[in-house]
Amino acid sequence: MRLGKLMTGLMGGLIFASLISFPLQPAAATPQLSPYVKAKLIQRAEQVTGDKFPIVTSTPRGVTVFAVTAPSKDVLAAIDQGFTELFAVARRHGYQNRLSFSTYTVFIARPDRTKDSAGQYSPDIAVPAGQYAGGYYDQGGYIYAAGMVLAFNPSAFVFAAHERDFSRISNVVRYEGEHIILYYNDRPLYEKTADHSKGGGHPILQ
Ligand SMILES: [Zn+2]
Repeated sequence: MRLGKLMTGLMGGLIFASLISFPLQPAAATPQLSPYVKAKLIQRAEQVTGDKFPIVTSTPRGVTVFAVTAPSKDVLAAIDQGFTELFAVARRHGYQNRLSFSTYTVFIARPDRTKDSAGQYSPDIAVPAGQYAGGYYDQGGYIYAAGMVLAFNPSAFVFAAHERDFSRISNVVRYEGEHIILYYNDRPLYEKTADHSKGGGHPILQ
Protein backbone atom coordinates (compact mmCIF):
# COMPACT_ATOMS: atom_id res chain seq x y z
CA MET A 1 0.00 0.00 0.00
CA ARG A 2 1.01 3.57 -0.58
CA LEU A 3 1.58 4.33 3.11
CA GLY A 4 3.89 1.39 3.50
CA LYS A 5 6.12 2.63 0.70
CA LEU A 6 5.99 6.17 2.02
CA MET A 7 7.39 5.15 5.38
CA THR A 8 10.03 2.72 4.19
CA GLY A 9 12.73 5.35 4.04
CA LEU A 10 12.25 6.23 7.68
CA MET A 11 12.39 2.70 8.97
CA GLY A 12 15.84 1.64 7.91
CA GLY A 13 16.97 -1.95 8.06
CA LEU A 14 17.85 -2.34 11.72
CA ILE A 15 14.46 -2.89 13.23
CA PHE A 16 14.18 -6.66 13.26
CA ALA A 17 17.81 -7.56 13.68
CA SER A 18 17.42 -8.76 17.26
CA LEU A 19 14.36 -10.94 16.73
CA ILE A 20 15.02 -14.62 17.14
CA SER A 21 13.58 -17.05 14.63
CA PHE A 22 11.49 -20.02 15.67
CA PRO A 23 10.31 -22.83 13.46
CA LEU A 24 6.84 -22.35 12.03
CA GLN A 25 4.03 -24.27 13.61
CA PRO A 26 1.80 -26.34 11.37
CA ALA A 27 -1.42 -24.86 9.99
CA ALA A 28 -3.26 -26.70 12.77
CA ALA A 29 -2.31 -23.73 14.95
CA THR A 30 -5.41 -21.98 13.54
CA PRO A 31 -8.16 -24.60 13.75
CA GLN A 32 -10.94 -22.10 14.46
CA LEU A 33 -10.54 -20.20 11.17
CA SER A 34 -11.86 -21.70 7.98
CA PRO A 35 -9.58 -21.25 4.97
CA TYR A 36 -12.00 -18.69 3.52
CA VAL A 37 -12.26 -16.62 6.71
CA LYS A 38 -8.52 -16.82 7.21
CA ALA A 39 -7.89 -15.58 3.68
CA LYS A 40 -10.30 -12.66 4.12
CA LEU A 41 -8.72 -11.72 7.43
CA ILE A 42 -5.20 -11.78 6.03
CA GLN A 43 -6.37 -9.72 3.07
CA ARG A 44 -7.80 -7.12 5.45
CA ALA A 45 -4.56 -6.98 7.46
CA GLU A 46 -2.54 -6.58 4.25
CA GLN A 47 -4.79 -3.74 3.07
CA VAL A 48 -4.49 -1.84 6.35
CA THR A 49 -0.75 -2.23 6.78
CA GLY A 50 0.67 -2.77 3.29
CA ASP A 51 2.59 -5.71 4.74
CA LYS A 52 2.70 -9.45 4.05
CA PHE A 53 2.41 -11.91 6.94
CA PRO A 54 4.28 -15.06 5.98
CA ILE A 55 4.71 -16.28 9.56
CA VAL A 56 1.91 -18.10 11.39
CA THR A 57 2.34 -19.32 14.91
CA SER A 58 0.53 -19.25 18.23
CA THR A 59 1.24 -18.14 21.77
CA PRO A 60 1.62 -20.67 24.60
CA ARG A 61 -1.99 -19.89 25.64
CA GLY A 62 -3.37 -20.35 22.13
CA VAL A 63 -3.65 -16.92 20.49
CA THR A 64 -3.11 -17.20 16.74
CA VAL A 65 -0.32 -14.91 15.50
CA PHE A 66 0.43 -13.79 11.95
CA ALA A 67 3.64 -11.80 11.61
CA VAL A 68 6.01 -10.18 9.15
CA THR A 69 8.95 -11.85 10.89
CA ALA A 70 9.03 -14.65 13.45
CA PRO A 71 8.17 -13.29 16.91
CA SER A 72 10.42 -14.18 19.84
CA LYS A 73 9.28 -16.14 22.89
CA ASP A 74 9.21 -12.89 24.86
CA VAL A 75 6.86 -11.29 22.35
CA LEU A 76 4.50 -14.27 22.45
CA ALA A 77 4.55 -14.20 26.25
CA ALA A 78 3.80 -10.46 26.21
CA ILE A 79 0.74 -11.13 24.04
CA ASP A 80 -0.53 -13.74 26.50
CA GLN A 81 0.14 -11.36 29.39
CA GLY A 82 -1.98 -8.65 27.73
CA PHE A 83 -4.89 -11.03 27.23
CA THR A 84 -4.55 -12.33 30.80
CA GLU A 85 -4.94 -8.78 32.12
CA LEU A 86 -7.79 -8.08 29.68
CA PHE A 87 -9.75 -11.18 30.68
CA ALA A 88 -9.22 -10.44 34.38
CA VAL A 89 -10.62 -6.92 34.10
CA ALA A 90 -13.47 -8.19 31.90
CA ARG A 91 -14.41 -10.80 34.53
CA ARG A 92 -14.40 -8.10 37.19
CA HIS A 93 -17.09 -6.39 35.14
CA GLY A 94 -19.08 -9.60 34.91
CA TYR A 95 -18.42 -10.07 31.19
CA GLN A 96 -18.49 -13.63 29.89
CA ASN A 97 -18.07 -13.43 26.11
CA ARG A 98 -14.78 -13.76 24.22
CA LEU A 99 -12.70 -14.60 27.28
CA SER A 100 -10.74 -17.35 25.56
CA PHE A 101 -7.23 -16.97 24.14
CA SER A 102 -7.94 -19.22 21.19
CA THR A 103 -10.72 -16.99 19.81
CA TYR A 104 -8.22 -14.20 19.09
CA THR A 105 -5.91 -13.55 16.18
CA VAL A 106 -3.21 -10.88 16.25
CA PHE A 107 -1.13 -9.53 13.39
CA ILE A 108 2.35 -8.16 14.00
CA ALA A 109 3.12 -5.64 11.27
CA ARG A 110 6.19 -3.72 10.24
CA PRO A 111 6.38 -0.49 12.28
CA ASP A 112 5.87 2.70 10.27
CA ARG A 113 7.69 4.63 12.95
CA THR A 114 9.64 3.59 16.04
CA LYS A 115 9.64 6.86 17.95
CA ASP A 116 6.77 9.13 18.85
CA SER A 117 6.82 12.91 18.50
CA ALA A 118 8.48 13.16 21.93
CA GLY A 119 11.31 10.85 20.85
CA GLN A 120 10.16 7.89 22.99
CA TYR A 121 10.44 4.33 21.67
CA SER A 122 7.00 3.75 20.20
CA PRO A 123 6.68 1.26 17.34
CA ASP A 124 3.45 2.29 15.62
CA ILE A 125 1.59 1.64 12.42
CA ALA A 126 0.31 4.30 10.02
CA VAL A 127 -3.35 3.84 9.20
CA PRO A 128 -5.62 5.94 6.96
CA ALA A 129 -6.93 8.91 8.95
CA GLY A 130 -10.63 8.15 8.35
CA GLN A 131 -12.67 9.78 11.09
CA TYR A 132 -9.53 11.42 12.47
CA ALA A 133 -8.99 13.48 9.28
CA GLY A 134 -8.20 17.10 10.06
CA GLY A 135 -8.05 16.42 13.77
CA TYR A 136 -5.32 16.40 16.36
CA TYR A 137 -4.00 12.96 15.34
CA ASP A 138 -3.95 13.64 11.58
CA GLN A 139 -0.42 13.43 10.12
CA GLY A 140 -1.60 14.24 6.58
CA GLY A 141 -4.02 11.54 5.47
CA TYR A 142 -2.92 8.95 8.00
CA ILE A 143 -2.47 8.62 11.73
CA TYR A 144 0.02 6.68 13.80
CA ALA A 145 -1.63 4.10 15.98
CA ALA A 146 -0.25 1.64 18.52
CA GLY A 147 -2.83 -0.86 17.36
CA MET A 148 -6.02 -1.25 15.39
CA VAL A 149 -8.95 -3.65 15.47
CA LEU A 150 -9.20 -5.47 12.13
CA ALA A 151 -12.28 -7.61 12.66
CA PHE A 152 -14.75 -8.59 15.38
CA ASN A 153 -15.67 -12.02 14.04
CA PRO A 154 -13.14 -13.52 13.94
CA SER A 155 -11.69 -11.25 16.62
CA ALA A 156 -8.47 -9.75 15.37
CA PHE A 157 -6.25 -6.71 15.69
CA VAL A 158 -2.85 -5.53 14.52
CA PHE A 159 0.13 -3.83 16.16
CA ALA A 160 3.73 -3.16 15.19
CA ALA A 161 6.72 -5.39 15.84
CA HIS A 162 8.78 -4.42 18.90
CA GLU A 163 12.41 -5.21 19.51
CA ARG A 164 12.25 -4.17 23.18
CA ASP A 165 9.83 -2.75 25.75
CA PHE A 166 7.62 -5.82 25.39
CA SER A 167 5.37 -4.66 28.22
CA ARG A 168 4.12 -2.12 25.69
CA ILE A 169 2.88 -5.06 23.60
CA SER A 170 0.93 -6.32 26.62
CA ASN A 171 -0.67 -2.89 26.93
CA VAL A 172 -1.56 -2.70 23.25
CA VAL A 173 -3.12 -6.17 23.39
CA ARG A 174 -5.07 -5.27 26.49
CA TYR A 175 -6.22 -1.97 24.96
CA GLU A 176 -7.19 -3.17 21.47
CA GLY A 177 -8.78 -6.19 23.10
CA GLU A 178 -10.96 -3.85 25.14
CA HIS A 179 -12.81 -2.75 22.01
CA ILE A 180 -13.57 -6.36 21.10
CA ILE A 181 -14.57 -7.35 24.65
CA LEU A 182 -16.91 -4.36 24.84
CA TYR A 183 -18.36 -5.13 21.42
CA TYR A 184 -19.42 -8.57 22.66
CA ASN A 185 -20.32 -7.68 26.25
CA ASP A 186 -21.48 -4.05 26.47
CA ARG A 187 -22.49 -2.70 23.08
CA PRO A 188 -23.56 0.78 24.33
CA LEU A 189 -20.18 1.31 26.01
CA TYR A 190 -18.46 -0.03 22.89
CA GLU A 191 -20.30 2.53 20.73
CA LYS A 192 -19.40 5.32 23.13
CA THR A 193 -15.68 4.49 23.26
CA ALA A 194 -14.81 3.06 19.83
CA ASP A 195 -13.95 6.38 18.20
CA HIS A 196 -11.03 8.12 19.91
CA SER A 197 -11.35 11.18 17.67
CA LYS A 198 -14.15 12.30 20.00
CA GLY A 199 -11.80 12.03 22.95
CA GLY A 200 -11.15 9.20 25.38
CA GLY A 201 -8.43 6.61 25.32
CA HIS A 202 -7.32 3.52 27.22
CA PRO A 203 -7.82 1.82 29.52
CA ILE A 204 -11.58 2.02 29.16
CA LEU A 205 -12.17 -0.71 31.73
CA GLN A 206 -10.58 -0.25 35.16
ZN1 LIG B 1 -8.72 2.20 21.17
